[in-house]
Amino acid sequence: RKPRVAVLFGGRSSEHAISCVTAGSVLAALDPEQYDVVPIGIARDGRWVLESGDVSRLAIAGPDQLPEVDTTRPVLSVHHDAADGSLSVHEPGQAPQALDSVDVVFPVLHGPWGEDGTIQGLMEIADVRYVGSGVTASAVGMDKHFMKVVLESAGLPVLPYVVVPAARWRTDAAGVRAEVEALGFPVFVKPARGGSSIGISKVRSADELDEAMAEAQRWDPKVLVESYAGDGAREVECGVLDSFGDDPAEASVVAEIVVDDEHDFYDFEAKYLPEQATRLDVPADLDDEVADEIQRLAVSAFEAVECEGLARVDFFLLPDGSLVINEINTMPGFTPTSMFPRMWAASGLAYADLVDRLVRLALERPTGLR
Ligand code: ATP
Ligand code: MG
Ligand code: MG
Ligand code: MG
Repeated sequence: RKPRVAVLFGGRSSEHAISCVTAGSVLAALDPEQYDVVPIGIARDGRWVLESGDVSRLAIAGPDQLPEVDTTRPVLSVHHDAADGSLSVHEPGQAPQALDSVDVVFPVLHGPWGEDGTIQGLMEIADVRYVGSGVTASAVGMDKHFMKVVLESAGLPVLPYVVVPAARWRTDAAGVRAEVEALGFPVFVKPARGGSSIGISKVRSADELDEAMAEAQRWDPKVLVESYAGDGAREVECGVLDSFGDDPAEASVVAEIVVDDEHDFYDFEAKYLPEQATRLDVPADLDDEVADEIQRLAVSAFEAVECEGLARVDFFLLPDGSLVINEINTMPGFTPTSMFPRMWAASGLAYADLVDRLVRLALERPTGLR
């Protein structure tokens, strides 16, 4: 029989809508001749539903028309059987459909409870194959603090930062302020575990810090304050994909993001809202040596974090010609107009072939400790 692929999307994080958009494209790309596809939506409140195969509504129709998981669909019950370790999902009143009988899960989920190792842990417990990074790499990649710790310890360049857990902000705001002053303004204030630029602000002076901290803390009690890359820094990204067998991971062509003057940085609107004039140069106009160095650093970051399957590594190219890694994303946005698939298309791997490669990589990968 055909391999059965469960596509999990939506989820409990702030990136619910973006996950739905990505899922729409992934579902459309999975060839029904080749795969038996089961779309499973995770609502914002955590309920799992059996989604319809209709992907036409999983798109951004406008600023206030972001897609959501359809909670009118049959709710699934997720059951972990402690006796035999199996995981099953079923519609109440119907025979269980063991998730075990799913050959591979594609967690098309961004942000906490999806991209951070938690869903991956559920799959590990049930011994089910899944696309992308494992528990540790997902957790490290999601947390901008631990991500930097790992990258730094591998000798990879990152910008200076201050970590602000909620308790420290409550008890030692003056100490935090002093450390932030020492970084020098402007700074970027970010939820430690977020994505799609949600909750991120550029802070130009000390008196703007409180508001930016409060905004970041709406999304995550742990916040990261980071040095500004600087005026004139260029923003470039590189995709990484696992190879089959023991061959090293591969880097895509490098691309550049050029945000229009309306936007301070590559914020949520600039990323996703269709009428925005953000320009993606794929490939970026760079000297070969610089592009080679970015590709080399991208693969090094992928290896340092022990990623699997795929990742997108985001960089700044500073005016003095040096490179710093901004972050690594273990489940990057994946619509046909997103950076990750566009970089691979420009590298000779079309969207459907990219999705197919990710599923085949996951099918080939052994379960358990690797
Ligand atoms: P993604 O959707 O890529 O996962 P994210 O929410 O994880 O995004 P970042 O990539 O860290 O967030 O930052 C979002 C954007 O903010 C960057 O693409 C860049 O435009 C800007 N930015 C972030 N940090 C800095 C910085 N230190 N200096 C200058 N610009 C920055
Ligand atoms: Mg990110
Ligand atoms: Mg992300
Ligand atoms: Mg980013």
